Amino acid sequence: MKFLAFLLLILTFSFLESKAKVSDFKVLTLGNVKVYHSKQDSLVAKKVGTFVLVNFDKINYGVGNSQKDTVKIWIPFGEEDWNFLTGGKIPEWSGGITDYSKNRIVLQSQRKSGQKIEKVALHELTHLLLNYKVANAGYLVPRWFNEGSAMFFAKELSVEHAVLVSQAAIFDTLVSLKSIDKVLNFKSAKANLCYAQSVIAVDYLVRRFGKGIVSDLLTNFKTEKNFNKAMINSTGMSLWQFEEELKKHIVTQYFWYFLFGFDVYVWAFFVPLLFALAYLKKRKRAKEFEAKWKMEEILAQKFS
Ligand SMILES: [Zn+2]
Repeated sequence: MKFLAFLLLILTFSFLESKAKVSDFKVLTLGNVKVYHSKQDSLVAKKVGTFVLVNFDKINYGVGNSQKDTVKIWIPFGEEDWNFLTGGKIPEWSGGITDYSKNRIVLQSQRKSGQKIEKVALHELTHLLLNYKVANAGYLVPRWFNEGSAMFFAKELSVEHAVLVSQAAIFDTLVSLKSIDKVLNFKSAKANLCYAQSVIAVDYLVRRFGKGIVSDLLTNFKTEKNFNKAMINSTGMSLWQFEEELKKHIVTQYFWYFLFGFDVYVWAFFVPLLFALAYLKKRKRAKEFEAKWKMEEILAQKFS
């Protein structure tokens, strides 16, 4: 009985403590950016707030917004706060979420996610601003475009993404843009490929049609409420035509990146093999040259 009372006391205390923590958030205001954080994360909050403020105009303009809305960023310190702010459905290793219904970004501490928190902040900021642009209908934009834009503006495109699409192109396992909508149901390897394809698709759109294409597409989507029609209006291509062109782009521009996916042991075998092949080729050429030279000498002796 005593033990039960003790347990109850502990549970009550931990409950009160978790509630106290949530209400104990401090607010840092930097321009139109508000960062809600714990006392322990004051420095992190300054770093994130400054990074978001510095990059805000570029991303806001990039998605086509003219007004400057206030951005609310929450950085929970512990697990209870994270679960409280994310509804308890988002795993702790997740870098962050954009809560469209509450117009706020919740960032996981770098200690738990292992991801650079300021980069995650720009990724989530793009989701939030893109959602504003399409009148709070961000969830209707195809996921490849939404995720691809967030990764593009957070400058997340990396060699790892290039390796993934290169391998998928070789083994013919590229995911269709439509299937990327179901990314949350996929296992991590396939999900990673979906994210890689998404950022490469948006990067290609920008290379092909210029920097204003993301904003232009979103403006057309807002009026048409149909992404295929928006694509045709903005690019003259249907989604299907774009996807075909994108596949060709991946095969031509990313084909050799699979080589970067080999680990050091494969390279240890591969590099000497390349040298050996180069040496054999050189020796063959030298022999051919020697034979030719001898033949010319014989002919010269015959006819001299
Ligand atoms: Zn995202």
